Amino acid sequence: MAKRSGVGRMTDEHVFIFSPEQLNYRFHEEHPFNQKRLSITNDLLFHLGALRPEDITPAREATIEELLLVHDEEYIQAVLNASEGQVRSSYRTAFGIGTDDTPAFPGMHQAAAWLVGGTLEAVDQVFAKGKKHALNLGGGLHHGFRGRASGFCIYNDSSIAIEYMRRKYGARVLYVDTDAHHGDGVQWAFYNDPDVCTLSIHESGRFLFPGTGNANERGHGDGYGTSFNIPLEAFTEDDSFIHVYKEAMREIVASFKPDVILTQNGADSHYYDPLTHLCGTLKLYHEIPRIAHELAHEYCEGRWIAVGGGGYDIWRVVPRAWSMVWLEMSGQRHLQKKGIPKQWLEKWQTESPVTLPEGWFDRTDMYPHIPRQKEIQKKNLRTLKQSLKVIESSSENSKA
Ligand SMILES: [Zn+2]
Repeated sequence: MAKRSGVGRMTDEHVFIFSPEQLNYRFHEEHPFNQKRLSITNDLLFHLGALRPEDITPAREATIEELLLVHDEEYIQAVLNASEGQVRSSYRTAFGIGTDDTPAFPGMHQAAAWLVGGTLEAVDQVFAKGKKHALNLGGGLHHGFRGRASGFCIYNDSSIAIEYMRRKYGARVLYVDTDAHHGDGVQWAFYNDPDVCTLSIHESGRFLFPGTGNANERGHGDGYGTSFNIPLEAFTEDDSFIHVYKEAMREIVASFKPDVILTQNGADSHYYDPLTHLCGTLKLYHEIPRIAHELAHEYCEGRWIAVGGGGYDIWRVVPRAWSMVWLEMSGQRHLQKKGIPKQWLEKWQTESPVTLPEGWFDRTDMYPHIPRQKEIQKKNLRTLKQSLKVIESSSENSKA
């Protein structure tokens, strides 16, 4: 293999975390949450020369003690039982296990704990091993609650990682969630905590799960003003999404001053995503990590941890979108000039039910013209202003 060049490539600043055990997180054959996307993405990066098997740092299985940082003991016990095939009918209503969204499956405890362990490993790589950035694409299960599974999520790796960073490293954490669905589990876990700030930009909950994430959800008690939500209109396109994201990120990072930025990179805001109603393209996934990376260097001495999340077009969207996160993080953007590797296309096209796109970016005629575009942009701007109002009023107070 040719020697790879590129600024940052061979430095020890960034780490890619993955273990095959993370692929065991699979409810059943027809379920939309499919971790095969991790294999397809890793393979795209291998073919591109952006990742070698020896570059990968293994995840680990989170311990019960670590899960207890966020989750209730009786909930963990229920997951353990379900994992062994002992599912009681009461688990459905008591713990959200055995629902259509989050059915029980053998080994579900271990599979979920390996996703959590990947994000915890990412944290330790940054805080204890001196890396600047770490990526665990197996993580991002933002709907998991303290005592309940929800929306395909069993254990909430980001919530656990945040609590872990708070206790072990005393870090002030900014969590940024750009999944098309509201990052409810993480938001509610830290709703009262002034040292954890959550920002979620998502499709409005009017017609989409979980229905929460209104601009007026701002935190509670001491945590008031450290929870931000920007619900976007259905059919929102790249430019409006990116504008809102950039403005919110700049203002929130500057006022909150985090020690670390944790980004959840759900890839389900794309036009092709079967579960949501936004009109994003790959341009979105090019810009999102770029800004996070830039701000992490500007405000957090580079500390940036990234996880995956939603993403249900596992062929046309997720591999390109998540590869872009790693290319940005590892300083290998220039490799995109090589295009999508032919061998990768040939290998996976035989399995893919849809035609795999041959470029890193999407064709502009991918979807029909949205006549309400101007109206949607205006509405999103109003929502942005409404959400950030709390920052403006506090900086006015400090000026006075
Ligand atoms: Zn989602």
